[in-house]
Amino acid sequence: MFFDVPDWKVGRPVSEEEALAARKLEAKKLRGNRPSKNVSFAEAREGRAQARPQGKRVPRPAPEKAAPQPDRAVSGLAKVSKPADTIESKLKAKLSGSRFRFLNQKLYESDSKTALAYFQENQDDFFRYHEGFQEQTKKWPTNPVNVFIDRICGLLKSKKAGKLVIADLGCGEGRLGLDVARMAKEMERPGVLVHSFDLVACGDHVKAASMTAVPLATGSVDLVIFSLALMNTDFCKALKEANRLLRAGGEVWIAEVESRFDGGTAGIDAFVQKLKPLGFQLQGRVDQSHKVFVLMKFAKTHDSAGHASSVSLKACKYKKR
Ligand code: SAH
Repeated sequence: MFFDVPDWKVGRPVSEEEALAARKLEAKKLRGNRPSKNVSFAEAREGRAQARPQGKRVPRPAPEKAAPQPDRAVSGLAKVSKPADTIESKLKAKLSGSRFRFLNQKLYESDSKTALAYFQENQDDFFRYHEGFQEQTKKWPTNPVNVFIDRICGLLKSKKAGKLVIADLGCGEGRLGLDVARMAKEMERPGVLVHSFDLVACGDHVKAASMTAVPLATGSVDLVIFSLALMNTDFCKALKEANRLLRAGGEVWIAEVESRFDGGTAGIDAFVQKLKPLGFQLQGRVDQSHKVFVLMKFAKTHDSAGHASSVSLKACKYKKR
């Protein structure tokens, strides 16, 4: 079960009041050192803010290397300042955890149109969400996106020639696209191409678009990836869009949290059945060998006939730590 991961506690969602209080406290803390309205909180926090034009996408800056720490065993100053640092860093972690949970809940409770509008308006929040998301991934026994990257690597090794067009929908920071592009270059496979989409483009390797309206031609994709990305209330529209994008026989790979399927294995079976009218047939068995995650591979059997609005999954919530 998803909840079995000791550090990934799931349960009560963040209340609006808690989220508001946390936002106010954070805004108050940051107001003093935030140089401009057009600068992300992350940039301001890290002291490398640069003004940018309103509404333009800002590539996420590469993380700076931490300054070397004084040797605590020999530095009296370091020893004295340690308790204050600890309190501050604990407070920071609490605030960013609270913001992450609030945004996570927002993504699960919004339809795709609202989610796109929100993150386009509040791009700082997208980066904050991913700071929190990356923190969570460190505690997972396996990161599903890594499993998918490994499988694509296997595919490239086994399929010596030909093209492979992949669409990673809800790609986050777009690591799958970057890793696969690097592998394809090393293997001299120019026909391998990954298109990465998310609500905000964190760099040139990602395009901003909702997974319900992807700017790619019908039947132009061999493989669609949804790695922990079926979040919005209308995610069935994204599955229909995947069907449109895929050529006949193309595949969709889905990774989700097991606890999102109501009734465990029965819920997973029901999900698999409900994808049939959408034109997707499960290939092989559902992979439940990754503890809290479920991985599935479907092939496109026919053009989507609709009737997908009944496909639903429970939201994935993170408990206050
Ligand atoms: N696939 C990545 C990121 C998972 S986090 C990984 O496995 O590491 C889920 C991502 O889905 C978030 O970045 C979120 O912004 C994105 N997402 C949610 N709804 C979306 C939508 N309607 N269109 C595009 N991306 C969406």
